[in-house]
Amino acid sequence: MIQNTLVLLKPDAYLRRYVGACVLKEFRDNKAFKIKAFKEVTPSQSLAEKHYSVHREKPFFKKLVDYLTLGPVIAMVIEGENVIPSIRVMLGNTFSEKAEPHTIRGKYGIWNGINVVHASDGEETAKYEISLWRKEAGVEETGGDTVNSLIDDYIKRWSKIRIDNTLKLRGICRLIATGERSIEDCEEEFFKLLKEECVDSDETIIKKFVRIIADNLQERKK
Ligand code: UDP
Ligand code: MG
Repeated sequence: MIQNTLVLLKPDAYLRRYVGACVLKEFRDNKAFKIKAFKEVTPSQSLAEKHYSVHREKPFFKKLVDYLTLGPVIAMVIEGENVIPSIRVMLGNTFSEKAEPHTIRGKYGIWNGINVVHASDGEETAKYEISLWRKEAGVEETGGDTVNSLIDDYIKRWSKIRIDNTLKLRGICRLIATGERSIEDCEEEFFKLLKEECVDSDETIIKKFVRIIADNLQERKK
């Protein structure tokens, strides 16, 4: 069955430029997918809350909204045969450290919910999310050639960076999770590693990014 799904490169994938290019390349190079919409969007608080409205009552909701509004995202509508489950399989487990190593989240997710990509989890969700992002953020289906050239430019531009510190970042998170190190102790290291990856971000946003990682680590301890 031909389906459409909403895919977001979340702010961690956007800010970590090389990681974002690698992830986008996986979608572009999959011949079974047709990327129909591609737009850089900075989600408002209200859009993030609506996008994750099913999680409104969850203890991690506020942190999740902070995460999605950390910076811009790349929003895409992708069409293909059974594209909804296919992309969910490509992503892997919700929790980065549990995701299989060949999956996108396994390769690039930092820790817990900081997991690089969102994709709709079913047909009803996909309809809701595609219409939400169209209405609130102008994510429209444009001509295939326009989309393809935007994607090619993005990949070409950022794949040159070649800095992927995922394993180092995750290694530190693991030591914090096992109690071997404290978050406060590691903040400087997180900052340095992210600064290398987030080549065009200012220090304020990188500090916020460190905060988001720390919040996620705390979330898991509860
Ligand atoms: N999330 C989190 N802590 C949790 C569960 C989820 O931070 O205990 C975040 C994570 O970023 C996830 C998002 O909330 O991607 C939405 O959760 P969902 O269960 O829908 O996971 P997904 O569909 O993204 O795999
Ligand atoms: Mg979900």
